[in-house]
Amino acid sequence: MANVTLRNVRKIYPGGFEAIKGVDIEVGDGQFCVLVGPSGCGKSTLLRMVAGLETISSGEIDIGGRVVNAIEPAERDIAMVFQNYALYPHMTVYNNMAYGLRNRRMPEAEIKTRVEDAARILELGTMLQRKPRQLSGGQRQRVAMGRAIVRQPKVFLFDEPLSNLDAKLRIAMRVEIRKLQRRLNTTAIYVTHDQLEAMTLADILVVMNGGKVEQIGNPLDIYQKP
Ligand code: ADP
Ligand code: ADP
Repeated sequence: MANVTLRNVRKIYPGGFEAIKGVDIEVGDGQFCVLVGPSGCGKSTLLRMVAGLETISSGEIDIGGRVVNAIEPAERDIAMVFQNYALYPHMTVYNNMAYGLRNRRMPEAEIKTRVEDAARILELGTMLQRKPRQLSGGQRQRVAMGRAIVRQPKVFLFDEPLSNLDAKLRIAMRVEIRKLQRRLNTTAIYVTHDQLEAMTLADILVVMNGGKVEQIGNPLDIYQKP
């Protein structure tokens, strides 16, 4: 359905800085890929290219067999969860989750079904009429995930979604994310700088450094190497 393949992908920013220097990654359908590496090594750039939010200088990214740049943004079956939850403060939880679907002119009845289903999965059923400020950090993070889930994407992209949460919540949410991804059988690419998060979440771990892939493989193999 939605394997994500990067072939010799490069990114040169205007000004000439080469942020990504020829990266090859293959994420199978339903797999969870985690990108780790020091700040500035190119993780966000790579993720944003997969999302189609950043141009690719050379090489190719395809999703489910289609080249990303050839897919109209509105047709891209991708949803991204950011670390700043990006919720609309003046809107209720329900409307925050419905917003993207309304932009796509989906019928209200279908929106209602999707929002209520997502709320049930995320245990936000009783929170739908609240505003973001009336929620805890973990609840807000779940609303942000809800906004992604209702789109029923084939690919989930996460850019350090838990780094604003306290340690206890981070562990709880980590478990939630993994359960959710298995349940929805969605392909995921997840950026973090937290090794424990990477260990628990990854089917495939990609260690990046200086715009290149330094290591790629099973997290147990990678972390056990001397
Ligand atoms: P990471 O997510 O691993 O911290 P980024 O992908 O954000 O890394 O950045 C990779 C490199 O590209 C960094 O050196 C950063 O300064 C540079 N960079 C990021 N965005 C831009 C931009 N819009 N223009 C020029 N350079 C950028
Ligand atoms: P949202 O669904 O996040 O409320 P919009 O409906 O305003 O956003 O989205 C406009 C276009 O931008 C969408 O068609 C989508 O392809 C792209 N886009 C928006 N948000 C994201 C995201 N979080 N990740 C990837 N692409 C996005």
